[in-house]
Amino acid sequence: MKIVDVIVQCYRYPAPPLRGTQFGTQEEATLVRVIADNGLEGYGVARAVGGSSGRIVADGVLNTAKPRVVGEDAFQRERIWQKLWALDRGNHLQIFATSVIDVALWDLAGKALNAPVWQLLGGYRNKLPAYASSARLASVDDYVAEALQCRARGYTAYKLHPFADPAKDVAVCRAVREAVGPDMKLMLDASCEYDHEAALRVGREIEKLNFHWYEEPINAYDLRGYTELSRALEIPVVAAEMVPGSIRSTAQYILQNAGDILRADVYWRGGITALMKTAHLCEANGIKTELHHGASPLMDIATLHCACAIKNCEFLELLVPEPRYEFGLKDYSALHIDAEGNVHAPPGPGLGVTIDWDFIDRHTTFSG
Ligand code: MG
Repeated sequence: MKIVDVIVQCYRYPAPPLRGTQFGTQEEATLVRVIADNGLEGYGVARAVGGSSGRIVADGVLNTAKPRVVGEDAFQRERIWQKLWALDRGNHLQIFATSVIDVALWDLAGKALNAPVWQLLGGYRNKLPAYASSARLASVDDYVAEALQCRARGYTAYKLHPFADPAKDVAVCRAVREAVGPDMKLMLDASCEYDHEAALRVGREIEKLNFHWYEEPINAYDLRGYTELSRALEIPVVAAEMVPGSIRSTAQYILQNAGDILRADVYWRGGITALMKTAHLCEANGIKTELHHGASPLMDIATLHCACAIKNCEFLELLVPEPRYEFGLKDYSALHIDAEGNVHAPPGPGLGVTIDWDFIDRHTTFSG
């Protein structure tokens, strides 16, 4: 199965604004289609946030990746991944371009073999729990209300992205714990906002509140800080969600004991191929790879396929409210929990996604 073309389509979609800065208000995504000589095609989606254009990734895909991918055997994903990953040096190709092409190649392989990706990867389970992951909300009451609502809907775990103010963050963690009671799993994601002293202080407080994990309290590049914090605290410290360097940086975190649990997803890590390498590297070292949201529903579903093919992760992350993050597909049921709080492996061949062509065509800003 030879690759004959790579096509991109950027689309700007109306997304309701969120508080805080981490998600921006203008969003543009890029659908990448890898087309084979038998007429099959696979999909990946890049997402630009903070007002930037989808063209940033699209240009890399078209000008740098495409000439190196067209003509290759679509089943030789590892060969193609190594070729593209080599361009990470000097940032000659953004990792996101490698990610979307790799995801599209797995989708394509699954379609060609009539099998879901999670089974091609070596199926481990057909469902796992998801946790509800907050945006930055305006008040303590908003977090309490959202956590209670998520629990009522069946979520067994809730992760707060609070105010980036240590004292206020402890207060909101305490309020949510008091509201939901002792059974719901709670996590704090500080989005790399604390210094060492605050990180230790907050960590000790949320240990008392029986939080399940403590995510990215300090700057992601601060490996020494993560080593010391992980040693000082009982609660698992979670690190390395969006660091560059793919599997190579993961290895450094592991070697330095910088974090008790590491993070990964298909978008920031370099595709399904890289996420599986990351998870196996962690597994061999006896630690979990907890999965980060994948920046778009299609990439989240790709991450879900990986989750169903590895043992060493507990959850899939779902940002809430879910509809805020749903765009470009016909069906989002794979990213909706059942009554027990689980998400299920998508049954269709490849990623099992159906593109909403009408929506994408209506919002297209560039195709090439
Ligand atoms: Mg995070």
